[in-house]
Amino acid sequence: MKVTLLGVGGSAGSPQIGGADGFGDWGQLDPAEPRNRRTRSSIVIETDDQKRLLVDTPPDLRQQLTGAGIGRVDAVLYTHAHADHIAGLDEIRILNRIIGRAMPAYATSEIWAELRQRFDYAFKPFNGGFFSRPVLEAEEIAPGQTVSILGMQVKLIDQDHGYSRSLGLRVQDFAYCTDVTHLDEAALGALTGLDLFVVDCFTRAEKHPTHASLGQVLAWVEHLRPKRTILTHMGPDMDYQALRAILPPGIEPGYDGMVIGL
Ligand SMILES: [Zn+2]
Repeated sequence: MKVTLLGVGGSAGSPQIGGADGFGDWGQLDPAEPRNRRTRSSIVIETDDQKRLLVDTPPDLRQQLTGAGIGRVDAVLYTHAHADHIAGLDEIRILNRIIGRAMPAYATSEIWAELRQRFDYAFKPFNGGFFSRPVLEAEEIAPGQTVSILGMQVKLIDQDHGYSRSLGLRVQDFAYCTDVTHLDEAALGALTGLDLFVVDCFTRAEKHPTHASLGQVLAWVEHLRPKRTILTHMGPDMDYQALRAILPPGIEPGYDGMVIGL
């Protein structure tokens, strides 16, 4: 199995639009460090027989896939329906043309309801032919389930994302928990014995209403003891080199295009 971090940025990406010269607002990030340039959070999980599951479709999806050398995906899973995780849904039409069929896509009933409302054109009846719009084969999943996707057993974890819920996922001893502020006992129980934990870490500040802070992530790591932890969904106070200097062994900030073999 292989995991590619397509993007490790917060909802605005980094740099975000703005800045004194108009070339971006970097916040506390060093513009000279290339790993501080972050697109919105998404990953691809590739099986040993080269089947690829894309997790979320951020607005940067075209740039992410072409930048990572990923020319085909075989299924999509949505963690939740926030814009930074879904706004690239239209790019699925290109992936449809590549696989020559509707895209198998997995989400909860709540996420599907949001997607149907915001991307109604993607859910109209499709009668074959050219994919001028995205076409999804919608599969309904629910937190707590373990579902078979592309031959992988994917455990779905219910996460507290502040004012809403999100899905974490575990495949073998890898887990991806983005957009989470609190993990309850059931969630923590599903995350023991990990080799790789890719986890939301938006800020070095003490608390955030919808995302994990660095202090929270360190507490989870202390409790769960994963072999390796990689931070994602990082905001404007999460400078790459500053984090490398202070993080304990086994914990590191991710970067766009990072590939981890498992
Ligand atoms: Zn979110």
